[in-house]
Amino acid sequence: MTTTDTSIAAAEAHSAHNYHPLPVVVATAEGAWMTDVEGRRYLDMLAGYSALNFGHGNRRLLDAARAQLDRVTLTSRAFHHDRFADFCTQLAELCGMEMVLPMNTGAEAVETAVKTARKWGYKVKGVPDGRAKIVVADGNFHGRTTTIISFSTDQEARADFGPYTPGFEIVPYGDLAAIEAAVDEHTVAVLLEPIQGEAGVLVPPPGYLAGVRALTRDRNVLFIADEIQSGLGRTGRTFACEHEGVVPDMYVLGKALGGGVVPVSAVVSSAAVLGVYRPGEHGSTFGGNPLACAVALEVIAMLRTGEYQQRATELGDHLHHELGLLTGSGPVAAVRGRGLWAGIDIAPGHGTGREVSERLMDRRVLVKDTHGSTIRLAPPLVISKEDLDWGLEQLRAVLAG
Ligand SMILES: *Cc1c(COP(=O)(O)O)cnc(C)c1O
Repeated sequence: MTTTDTSIAAAEAHSAHNYHPLPVVVATAEGAWMTDVEGRRYLDMLAGYSALNFGHGNRRLLDAARAQLDRVTLTSRAFHHDRFADFCTQLAELCGMEMVLPMNTGAEAVETAVKTARKWGYKVKGVPDGRAKIVVADGNFHGRTTTIISFSTDQEARADFGPYTPGFEIVPYGDLAAIEAAVDEHTVAVLLEPIQGEAGVLVPPPGYLAGVRALTRDRNVLFIADEIQSGLGRTGRTFACEHEGVVPDMYVLGKALGGGVVPVSAVVSSAAVLGVYRPGEHGSTFGGNPLACAVALEVIAMLRTGEYQQRATELGDHLHHELGLLTGSGPVAAVRGRGLWAGIDIAPGHGTGREVSERLMDRRVLVKDTHGSTIRLAPPLVISKEDLDWGLEQLRAVLAG
């Protein structure tokens, strides 16, 4: 048995089978490249579902983390610490908002957004107690907690985990009229991904987000943008909502906010919305800890220069141009996406998404399939054009074979 086989067998024996990883065992990584336990190098075209926008082992982020490790890593929110105010101030500023509520994982931030919208509904909007409704889209992915999977339409994510949390209405994604019909006097929020990542990088029709913005403003409903995967540079802007000139009432952030170093998530909104909380009503032992704040502060500083957004735009234009050449009659049925982010539907007869992912792995490129026939490309924004071209060459070879 190889080291790889031994390691995979042990993982299968002693971990729950809630994932089906590709058979590669990573030992080290740098930039856009990962090296496995056998010393083979792979181009990472997934980047931890956008958690690694700034690449593996990013110098600035590691330096920030190391410096903080030697100072203080955890205080709990029972006390103040000296990185907290800067983190909240600077993240709010990056978002053009006023207040931040830090958590750790994306799902916790979505839960926080749900709780915040409900509380805002009762305390500010005047919705009768227990009647708050949140409108969401089908095909959504907002995380894995019991409340969040309650409004998922993915049977794999949902089945056998009931009873489900009420208070959500699901409408078709991209359909503004359906949201308009669903919003009633008890509706406190519309919660959407501005681009649906897990669903296969689905970009809604032009005007949709702007329409949701206008509608929610008119009807005194909060527009919550889950930018956990789409945000922080991935699409060529700090937020995917910017492509439509839209500012939501609340951003939900995660993934890249922790720079691939530590889990950091947050809800960012106005004082009118996040101001509803009183001490004891919500919290997290690890949320907003000094190490998380130190890393996120460096992430924010890196995003402020616009250089990563610029890279995502330029490399993304190139990526989509190249993928466009494969689309139509060939092995690629459709390509969607924005910036350095693409969902590729494999044409029938050219293999499942999983098979294409496995063949790419054999050619030392790592991607992830989604929904049967789709693969998703989301390389780190630090990838070089040469490496991106090499990855695309492997994709062309796999699809031709
Ligand atoms: C990944 C993701 C989440 C959940 O984040 P976790 O950190 O895995 O809990 C929520 N929403 C979107 C859009 C995501 O991509």
